[in-house]
Amino acid sequence: MKTDYIIVGCGLAGIAFCEELKANNKTFFVFDNNSQTSSSVAGGLYNPVILNRFTKVWRSREQLDLALPKYKILENKLNNRLDYSIPINRLFHYEKEQKTWLKALKKPELAEFMSVDFKPNTNANINAPLGFGEVLHTGRIDTKTLVLKYKKQLKDNQLFSTELFEYNSIINNKNSVTYKDIEAKHIVFAEGYGLKENPFFNNLPLDGLKGEYITVKAPDLNLTKIVKSSIFIIPLGNDLYRIGATFEKVEKTNTITESRKLELVEKLAKITSAKFDVVNHTAGIRPTVIDHKPLVGQHKTHKNYYVLNGLGARGVMIAPYVAKALFNLIENNIALNLEINSNRFNKV
Ligand SMILES: Cc1cc2nc3c(=O)[nH]c(=O)nc-3n(C[C@H](O)[C@H](O)[C@H](O)COP(=O)(O)OP(=O)(O)OC[C@H]3O[C@@H](n4cnc5c(N)ncnc54)[C@H](O)[C@@H]3O)c2cc1C
Repeated sequence: MKTDYIIVGCGLAGIAFCEELKANNKTFFVFDNNSQTSSSVAGGLYNPVILNRFTKVWRSREQLDLALPKYKILENKLNNRLDYSIPINRLFHYEKEQKTWLKALKKPELAEFMSVDFKPNTNANINAPLGFGEVLHTGRIDTKTLVLKYKKQLKDNQLFSTELFEYNSIINNKNSVTYKDIEAKHIVFAEGYGLKENPFFNNLPLDGLKGEYITVKAPDLNLTKIVKSSIFIIPLGNDLYRIGATFEKVEKTNTITESRKLELVEKLAKITSAKFDVVNHTAGIRPTVIDHKPLVGQHKTHKNYYVLNGLGARGVMIAPYVAKALFNLIENNIALNLEINSNRFNKV
Protein backbone atom coordinates (compact mmCIF):
# COMPACT_ATOMS: atom_id res chain seq x y z
CA MET A 1 0.00 0.00 0.00
CA LYS A 2 1.27 3.50 -0.85
CA THR A 3 0.18 6.49 1.19
CA ASP A 4 1.31 10.03 1.96
CA TYR A 5 1.58 9.59 5.74
CA ILE A 6 1.86 6.98 8.47
CA ILE A 7 0.64 8.31 11.81
CA VAL A 8 1.51 6.59 15.08
CA GLY A 9 -1.04 7.49 17.75
CA CYS A 10 -4.73 8.26 17.54
CA GLY A 11 -5.21 10.54 20.54
CA LEU A 12 -6.06 14.24 20.26
CA ALA A 13 -2.75 14.96 18.49
CA GLY A 14 -3.06 12.15 15.93
CA ILE A 15 -6.73 12.94 15.25
CA ALA A 16 -6.02 16.64 14.72
CA PHE A 17 -3.25 15.76 12.27
CA CYS A 18 -5.49 13.31 10.36
CA GLU A 19 -8.06 16.08 10.05
CA GLU A 20 -5.43 18.46 8.67
CA LEU A 21 -4.47 15.81 6.11
CA LYS A 22 -8.08 15.12 5.10
CA ALA A 23 -8.74 18.82 4.63
CA ASN A 24 -5.78 18.94 2.25
CA ASN A 25 -6.56 15.74 0.33
CA LYS A 26 -3.59 13.79 1.65
CA THR A 27 -3.77 10.06 2.30
CA PHE A 28 -2.70 8.33 5.52
CA PHE A 29 -2.72 5.18 7.64
CA VAL A 30 -2.90 5.19 11.46
CA PHE A 31 -1.53 2.84 14.13
CA ASP A 32 -2.81 2.89 17.71
CA ASN A 33 -2.58 0.01 20.16
CA ASN A 34 -4.46 1.66 23.07
CA SER A 35 -1.32 1.70 25.22
CA GLN A 36 -1.94 5.30 26.34
CA THR A 37 -5.22 6.66 27.65
CA SER A 38 -4.70 10.40 28.09
CA SER A 39 -7.11 11.56 25.40
CA SER A 40 -9.82 9.10 26.41
CA VAL A 41 -9.79 9.94 30.12
CA ALA A 42 -9.28 13.73 29.81
CA GLY A 43 -11.78 16.10 31.41
CA GLY A 44 -11.94 17.55 27.90
CA LEU A 45 -12.15 21.14 29.14
CA TYR A 46 -11.24 24.08 26.97
CA ASN A 47 -10.52 27.08 29.08
CA PRO A 48 -8.46 30.14 28.17
CA VAL A 49 -7.67 31.24 31.76
CA ILE A 50 -5.20 29.70 34.21
CA LEU A 51 -7.46 29.38 37.20
CA ASN A 52 -5.04 29.47 40.10
CA ARG A 53 -3.26 32.66 38.96
CA PHE A 54 -5.87 34.27 36.70
CA THR A 55 -3.51 34.64 33.77
CA LYS A 56 -4.10 33.90 30.12
CA VAL A 57 -3.31 30.50 28.64
CA TRP A 58 -0.58 30.67 25.97
CA ARG A 59 -2.08 31.68 22.59
CA SER A 60 -5.56 30.88 23.86
CA ARG A 61 -7.54 33.09 21.48
CA GLU A 62 -5.74 31.70 18.40
CA GLN A 63 -6.17 28.16 19.65
CA LEU A 64 -9.87 28.54 20.45
CA ASP A 65 -10.59 30.19 17.10
CA LEU A 66 -9.00 27.27 15.31
CA ALA A 67 -10.11 24.40 17.54
CA LEU A 68 -13.82 25.00 18.08
CA PRO A 69 -14.81 25.01 14.39
CA LYS A 70 -12.73 21.84 13.93
CA TYR A 71 -14.64 20.05 16.69
CA LYS A 72 -17.89 21.20 15.09
CA ILE A 73 -16.77 19.64 11.80
CA LEU A 74 -15.93 16.44 13.66
CA GLU A 75 -19.38 16.40 15.29
CA ASN A 76 -20.92 16.34 11.83
CA LYS A 77 -18.53 13.75 10.43
CA LEU A 78 -18.98 11.42 13.39
CA ASN A 79 -22.66 12.19 13.76
CA ASN A 80 -22.23 12.69 17.50
CA ARG A 81 -22.31 15.65 19.83
CA LEU A 82 -18.81 16.43 21.10
CA ASP A 83 -18.80 20.10 22.15
CA TYR A 84 -20.63 21.08 25.34
CA SER A 85 -20.24 24.83 25.74
CA ILE A 86 -20.55 25.57 29.47
CA PRO A 87 -19.09 28.27 31.78
CA ILE A 88 -16.59 27.48 34.50
CA ASN A 89 -17.36 28.99 37.88
CA ARG A 90 -14.15 29.56 39.82
CA LEU A 91 -15.01 29.24 43.50
CA PHE A 92 -13.40 31.95 45.65
CA HIS A 93 -11.76 30.69 48.81
CA TYR A 94 -10.41 34.05 50.02
CA GLU A 95 -11.24 37.71 49.50
CA LYS A 96 -7.70 38.12 48.20
CA GLU A 97 -8.63 35.96 45.22
CA GLN A 98 -11.52 38.26 44.40
CA LYS A 99 -9.08 41.20 44.36
CA THR A 100 -6.73 39.29 42.04
CA TRP A 101 -9.69 38.53 39.75
CA LEU A 102 -10.62 42.23 39.56
CA LYS A 103 -7.02 43.13 38.78
CA ALA A 104 -6.83 40.49 36.03
CA LEU A 105 -10.04 41.82 34.50
CA LYS A 106 -8.26 45.07 33.68
CA LYS A 107 -5.89 43.26 31.31
CA PRO A 108 -7.35 43.53 27.79
CA GLU A 109 -6.33 39.97 26.85
CA LEU A 110 -8.28 38.57 29.82
CA ALA A 111 -11.32 40.85 29.88
CA GLU A 112 -13.26 38.91 27.23
CA PHE A 113 -12.89 35.69 29.23
CA MET A 114 -13.81 36.80 32.77
CA SER A 115 -17.13 37.94 34.22
CA VAL A 116 -17.20 41.49 35.54
CA ASP A 117 -19.62 40.60 38.33
CA PHE A 118 -19.06 37.94 40.92
CA LYS A 119 -21.71 35.22 40.87
CA PRO A 120 -23.32 34.56 44.27
CA ASN A 121 -23.77 30.96 45.30
CA THR A 122 -27.43 29.94 45.02
CA ASN A 123 -26.94 26.20 45.53
CA ALA A 124 -27.60 25.16 49.13
CA ASN A 125 -25.52 22.02 48.60
CA ILE A 126 -22.35 23.91 47.65
CA ASN A 127 -20.06 25.49 50.19
CA ALA A 128 -19.10 28.80 48.55
CA PRO A 129 -19.79 31.80 50.81
CA LEU A 130 -17.65 34.12 48.66
CA GLY A 131 -19.32 33.05 45.43
CA PHE A 132 -17.65 32.60 42.07
CA GLY A 133 -15.95 34.35 39.19
CA GLU A 134 -17.27 33.08 35.87
CA VAL A 135 -14.90 32.17 33.03
CA LEU A 136 -16.47 32.66 29.62
CA HIS A 137 -15.95 30.93 26.26
CA THR A 138 -15.27 27.66 28.02
CA GLY A 139 -16.64 24.17 27.63
CA ARG A 140 -16.00 20.48 27.38
CA ILE A 141 -15.21 18.25 24.44
CA ASP A 142 -16.34 14.68 24.96
CA THR A 143 -12.90 13.30 24.12
CA LYS A 144 -13.79 9.71 25.00
CA THR A 145 -16.53 9.63 22.36
CA LEU A 146 -14.32 11.50 19.90
CA VAL A 147 -11.48 8.97 20.18
CA LEU A 148 -13.78 5.94 20.08
CA LYS A 149 -15.82 7.12 17.10
CA TYR A 150 -12.82 8.44 15.21
CA LYS A 151 -10.96 5.14 15.47
CA LYS A 152 -14.08 3.27 14.41
CA GLN A 153 -14.51 5.44 11.33
CA LEU A 154 -10.86 4.95 10.34
CA LYS A 155 -11.20 1.20 10.90
CA ASP A 156 -14.35 1.07 8.76
CA ASN A 157 -12.35 2.77 5.99
CA GLN A 158 -9.39 0.38 6.39
CA LEU A 159 -7.13 3.21 7.47
CA PHE A 160 -6.37 1.94 10.97
CA SER A 161 -4.53 -0.82 12.79
CA THR A 162 -4.58 -1.63 16.52
CA GLU A 163 -1.10 -3.14 16.25
CA LEU A 164 1.77 -1.98 18.41
CA PHE A 165 3.96 0.08 16.10
CA GLU A 166 7.42 -1.54 16.08
CA TYR A 167 10.05 1.13 15.59
CA ASN A 168 12.77 -1.28 14.52
CA SER A 169 10.68 -2.40 11.53
CA ILE A 170 10.86 0.98 9.75
CA ILE A 171 13.02 1.08 6.66
CA ASN A 172 14.17 4.56 5.82
CA ASN A 173 14.45 5.02 2.05
CA LYS A 174 15.73 8.44 1.17
CA ASN A 175 12.44 10.01 0.16
CA SER A 176 10.02 7.63 1.81
CA VAL A 177 9.63 5.16 4.67
CA THR A 178 8.56 1.56 4.46
CA TYR A 179 6.82 -0.09 7.36
CA LYS A 180 5.86 -3.70 6.70
CA ASP A 181 3.63 -3.50 3.59
CA ILE A 182 3.10 0.27 3.72
CA GLU A 183 5.20 2.82 1.90
CA ALA A 184 4.70 6.44 2.96
CA LYS A 185 6.30 9.76 2.14
CA HIS A 186 6.32 10.84 5.79
CA ILE A 187 5.80 9.41 9.25
CA VAL A 188 4.36 11.42 12.15
CA PHE A 189 4.81 10.18 15.71
CA ALA A 190 1.98 11.30 18.03
CA GLU A 191 2.24 8.72 20.82
CA GLY A 192 1.70 10.94 23.87
CA TYR A 193 3.69 9.53 26.79
CA GLY A 194 4.37 6.47 24.59
CA LEU A 195 7.10 8.62 22.98
CA LYS A 196 9.39 7.31 25.70
CA GLU A 197 9.64 4.04 23.70
CA ASN A 198 10.42 5.84 20.42
CA PRO A 199 14.17 5.57 19.66
CA PHE A 200 14.03 8.48 17.18
CA PHE A 201 12.61 11.08 19.55
CA ASN A 202 13.06 9.79 23.09
CA ASN A 203 15.95 12.19 23.60
CA LEU A 204 13.35 14.96 23.91
CA PRO A 205 12.54 16.02 27.48
CA LEU A 206 8.97 14.72 27.53
CA ASP A 207 7.84 14.24 31.10
CA GLY A 208 4.57 12.73 32.21
CA LEU A 209 2.05 13.88 34.78
CA LYS A 210 -0.37 11.17 35.77
CA GLY A 211 -3.95 12.16 36.52
CA GLU A 212 -7.03 10.36 37.81
CA TYR A 213 -10.70 11.26 37.53
CA ILE A 214 -13.73 9.76 39.21
CA THR A 215 -17.31 9.97 38.01
CA VAL A 216 -19.99 10.30 40.68
CA LYS A 217 -23.76 10.07 40.70
CA ALA A 218 -25.18 12.87 42.86
CA PRO A 219 -28.94 13.42 42.38
CA ASP A 220 -29.05 16.41 44.79
CA LEU A 221 -26.03 18.32 43.50
CA ASN A 222 -28.01 20.16 40.81
CA LEU A 223 -25.13 21.89 39.03
CA THR A 224 -25.50 23.23 35.52
CA LYS A 225 -22.08 24.92 35.34
CA ILE A 226 -18.60 23.56 35.90
CA VAL A 227 -17.27 24.39 39.37
CA LYS A 228 -13.52 24.80 39.91
CA SER A 229 -12.24 24.69 43.45
CA SER A 230 -9.38 22.38 44.51
CA ILE A 231 -10.90 20.09 41.83
CA PHE A 232 -13.18 20.44 38.85
CA ILE A 233 -16.80 19.33 39.19
CA ILE A 234 -18.00 18.80 35.64
CA PRO A 235 -21.72 18.17 35.04
CA LEU A 236 -22.31 15.42 32.47
CA GLY A 237 -26.12 15.25 32.68
CA ASN A 238 -28.31 12.57 34.30
CA ASP A 239 -26.93 13.55 37.77
CA LEU A 240 -23.46 12.39 36.76
CA TYR A 241 -20.37 14.53 37.41
CA ARG A 242 -16.70 14.09 36.61
CA ILE A 243 -14.49 14.96 39.55
CA GLY A 244 -10.77 15.62 39.22
CA ALA A 245 -8.14 15.55 38.36
CA THR A 246 -5.18 14.50 40.46
CA PHE A 247 -1.52 15.26 39.73
CA GLU A 248 1.10 12.58 40.26
CA LYS A 249 4.67 13.27 39.11
CA VAL A 250 6.53 10.11 40.08
CA GLU A 251 4.44 7.13 39.05
CA LYS A 252 3.98 6.76 35.27
CA THR A 253 1.27 4.17 34.69
CA ASN A 254 -2.33 4.32 33.51
CA THR A 255 -3.49 2.37 36.57
CA ILE A 256 -6.17 3.74 38.89
CA THR A 257 -5.31 3.93 42.60
CA GLU A 258 -7.46 3.74 45.73
CA SER A 259 -5.50 6.55 47.42
CA ARG A 260 -6.21 9.05 44.62
CA LYS A 261 -9.87 8.05 44.54
CA LEU A 262 -10.04 8.77 48.26
CA GLU A 263 -8.32 12.13 47.74
CA LEU A 264 -10.95 13.14 45.17
CA VAL A 265 -13.82 11.90 47.35
CA GLU A 266 -12.51 13.91 50.31
CA LYS A 267 -12.05 17.06 48.24
CA LEU A 268 -15.56 16.78 46.82
CA ALA A 269 -17.04 16.24 50.29
CA LYS A 270 -15.48 19.53 51.41
CA ILE A 271 -17.26 21.42 48.64
CA THR A 272 -20.68 19.78 48.76
CA SER A 273 -23.01 18.36 51.38
CA ALA A 274 -24.88 16.41 48.68
CA LYS A 275 -24.60 12.62 48.83
CA PHE A 276 -22.75 10.90 45.99
CA ASP A 277 -21.65 7.46 44.80
CA VAL A 278 -18.53 6.81 42.76
CA VAL A 279 -19.57 5.03 39.56
CA ASN A 280 -16.36 5.19 37.49
CA HIS A 281 -12.64 5.82 37.91
CA THR A 282 -9.98 6.41 35.21
CA ALA A 283 -6.31 7.32 34.92
CA GLY A 284 -3.91 8.54 32.25
CA ILE A 285 -0.62 10.34 31.72
CA ARG A 286 -0.51 13.92 30.46
CA PRO A 287 2.41 14.31 28.03
CA THR A 288 4.07 17.33 29.65
CA VAL A 289 7.24 19.26 28.81
CA ILE A 290 9.50 21.20 31.15
CA ASP A 291 8.74 24.58 29.49
CA HIS A 292 5.00 23.83 29.16
CA LYS A 293 5.11 24.10 25.37
CA PRO A 294 4.40 21.40 22.77
CA LEU A 295 7.05 19.35 20.97
CA VAL A 296 6.62 19.69 17.23
CA GLY A 297 9.27 19.10 14.64
CA GLN A 298 11.41 17.18 12.25
CA HIS A 299 14.05 14.58 13.07
CA LYS A 300 17.60 15.89 12.64
CA THR A 301 18.80 13.16 10.29
CA HIS A 302 15.70 11.20 9.22
CA LYS A 303 14.10 14.14 7.46
CA ASN A 304 10.74 12.47 6.82
CA TYR A 305 10.22 11.56 10.53
CA TYR A 306 8.23 14.07 12.59
CA VAL A 307 7.05 14.47 16.18
CA LEU A 308 3.72 15.89 17.39
CA ASN A 309 3.62 15.75 21.16
CA GLY A 310 3.85 17.62 24.47
CA LEU A 311 0.22 18.71 24.57
CA GLY A 312 0.40 18.71 28.37
CA ALA A 313 -2.81 19.37 30.28
CA ARG A 314 -4.46 21.28 27.43
CA GLY A 315 -4.62 18.93 24.47
CA VAL A 316 -8.14 19.94 23.44
CA MET A 317 -7.15 23.51 22.60
CA ILE A 318 -3.57 22.90 21.45
CA ALA A 319 -3.99 19.84 19.20
CA PRO A 320 -5.52 21.54 16.13
CA TYR A 321 -3.06 24.45 16.46
CA VAL A 322 0.06 22.28 16.48
CA ALA A 323 -1.31 19.90 13.84
CA LYS A 324 -1.72 22.84 11.48
CA ALA A 325 1.77 24.12 12.26
CA LEU A 326 3.31 20.70 11.54
CA PHE A 327 1.35 20.30 8.31
CA ASN A 328 2.51 23.73 7.16
CA LEU A 329 6.10 22.82 7.94
CA ILE A 330 5.97 19.60 5.95
CA GLU A 331 3.84 20.58 2.98
CA ASN A 332 4.28 24.33 2.72
CA ASN A 333 7.78 24.78 4.08
CA ILE A 334 6.54 27.27 6.68
CA ALA A 335 8.99 27.32 9.57
CA LEU A 336 7.75 26.39 13.01
CA ASN A 337 7.50 29.01 15.68
CA LEU A 338 10.58 28.56 17.89
CA GLU A 339 8.43 28.20 21.02
CA ILE A 340 7.02 24.87 19.82
CA ASN A 341 9.90 23.58 17.69
CA SER A 342 11.30 20.41 19.27
CA ASN A 343 14.74 21.43 18.03
CA ARG A 344 14.84 24.01 20.83
CA PHE A 345 16.04 21.10 22.99
CA ASN A 346 18.70 19.58 20.72
CA LYS A 347 20.55 22.38 19.06
CA VAL A 348 23.85 20.50 18.56
C1 LIG B 1 -6.61 12.96 33.97
C2 LIG B 1 -6.40 13.88 32.80
C3 LIG B 1 -7.22 14.97 32.63
C4 LIG B 1 -7.05 15.82 31.54
N1 LIG B 1 -7.92 16.85 31.36
C5 LIG B 1 -7.79 17.65 30.27
C6 LIG B 1 -8.73 18.69 30.03
O1 LIG B 1 -9.69 18.88 30.77
N2 LIG B 1 -8.56 19.47 28.93
C7 LIG B 1 -7.50 19.28 28.06
O2 LIG B 1 -7.40 19.99 27.07
N3 LIG B 1 -6.61 18.29 28.27
C8 LIG B 1 -6.73 17.49 29.35
N4 LIG B 1 -5.82 16.50 29.57
C9 LIG B 1 -4.64 16.43 28.69
C10 LIG B 1 -4.95 15.77 27.38
O3 LIG B 1 -5.62 14.59 27.64
C11 LIG B 1 -3.64 15.53 26.61
O4 LIG B 1 -3.02 16.76 26.34
C12 LIG B 1 -3.90 14.81 25.30
O5 LIG B 1 -4.76 13.74 25.49
C13 LIG B 1 -2.63 14.31 24.67
O6 LIG B 1 -2.98 13.72 23.45
P1 LIG B 1 -1.95 12.89 22.60
O7 LIG B 1 -2.65 12.49 21.37
O8 LIG B 1 -0.67 13.64 22.48
O9 LIG B 1 -1.59 11.62 23.51
P2 LIG B 1 -2.45 10.33 23.86
O10 LIG B 1 -3.84 10.65 24.14
O11 LIG B 1 -1.68 9.63 24.92
O12 LIG B 1 -2.43 9.49 22.53
C14 LIG B 1 -1.30 8.80 22.08
C15 LIG B 1 -1.78 7.53 21.42
O13 LIG B 1 -0.64 6.85 20.86
C16 LIG B 1 -0.81 5.47 21.01
N5 LIG B 1 0.51 4.83 20.99
C17 LIG B 1 1.59 5.15 21.75
N6 LIG B 1 2.64 4.37 21.41
C18 LIG B 1 2.21 3.54 20.42
C19 LIG B 1 2.84 2.51 19.66
N7 LIG B 1 4.13 2.18 19.78
N8 LIG B 1 2.10 1.83 18.74
C20 LIG B 1 0.79 2.15 18.54
N9 LIG B 1 0.15 3.14 19.23
C21 LIG B 1 0.86 3.82 20.16
C22 LIG B 1 -1.51 5.34 22.37
O14 LIG B 1 -2.26 4.15 22.45
C23 LIG B 1 -2.42 6.57 22.39
O15 LIG B 1 -3.73 6.28 21.97
C24 LIG B 1 -5.99 15.60 30.63
C25 LIG B 1 -5.17 14.48 30.79
C26 LIG B 1 -5.37 13.62 31.85
C27 LIG B 1 -4.50 12.42 31.99
